[in-house]
Amino acid sequence: MSLKASVTQHGAVQLGKYVACDAFDETRPLRIVSHAHADHTVGLQQSLRTCEKILMTPATRDLVDVLMGPLFLMGGNAETLDYGKALQNEEERITFFRADHIMGAAQVLVEDVEGNRVGYTGDFRIDDTPVLETDTLVMEATYGNPACKRSFDVDVRDLLVSIVRKGLENGTVYVFGYHGKLQEVMQILHTADVKAPFIASEKVFHVSKICEKHGMRIGRLILSEEWEARKLLEKNSPCVAFYHMNTMNKVGLDSFRVSVSGWEFGSPCRQTGNKEYVIALSDHSDFDGLIEYVRRSKPKSVITDSYRVGHAETLAREIHKRFGVPAVALPKK
Ligand SMILES: [Zn+2]
Repeated sequence: MSLKASVTQHGAVQLGKYVACDAFDETRPLRIVSHAHADHTVGLQQSLRTCEKILMTPATRDLVDVLMGPLFLMGGNAETLDYGKALQNEEERITFFRADHIMGAAQVLVEDVEGNRVGYTGDFRIDDTPVLETDTLVMEATYGNPACKRSFDVDVRDLLVSIVRKGLENGTVYVFGYHGKLQEVMQILHTADVKAPFIASEKVFHVSKICEKHGMRIGRLILSEEWEARKLLEKNSPCVAFYHMNTMNKVGLDSFRVSVSGWEFGSPCRQTGNKEYVIALSDHSDFDGLIEYVRRSKPKSVITDSYRVGHAETLAREIHKRFGVPAVALPKK
């Protein structure tokens, strides 16, 4: 008998008999947080109150502490599990594997004593994500439509660096994005030796410090409230200011602005205003990447996650068409 998997109406990814990932599930004693993005910490407070154990990687735990407040996880039994280390839970074995997405992101593998394997990708970019061989695969479907392909013949990272450099010639460059991806931009610019000071709003700053603690290289970062940062921004001096996407309509309105988004397929860089650009930097696989994962995972059946934003029905159809295995989008709408 193979291990069961499903996705509930509330977005909980059920693996085997005991595990629910990424949303609250009152029937499961073990809650896993695959990564710290908000659509994967759904109902975490309820889980903390009722689950025997909440499991995540050490980096995800640190990020949840920053994003939800340091007391939040004390409301329950939160434990950490490193990549590659197995946790025996009753007759099942749980292992986390790295997912190339944001700092701390994990794929989850559950195996039973007979060697049946059910895996959940969480969010991932195929580039640096090890593919799990599975019998049943639950996968994200953000760009699960054949129209969602990013086959650009330029390196988006190089493009990002050159746009930022161009903006710096005339003063401050504001960069907008989501947690995790902003830190990736910092790392790209730092690695490319962009010398201008980096400034970050409070939450972005603290998320960055966690990413640095867990191995990212981002260089020196100044908190936006500090005197030094305020002076730089007031004078429109050459510096790079990192802000969350949610504040795009509030800060740096007259400055040179760059936002990073995965929802860009026509071009790696699009000019949206006089001094405003969108760069197609994604932390998810495009359609081809999702299909490639299935090809290498060789599952006997696939479930695509339709609870979260994406194209789960289309992806399930395309997987069935290409590989001939049963594939279904769950939860059913
Ligand atoms: Zn995510």
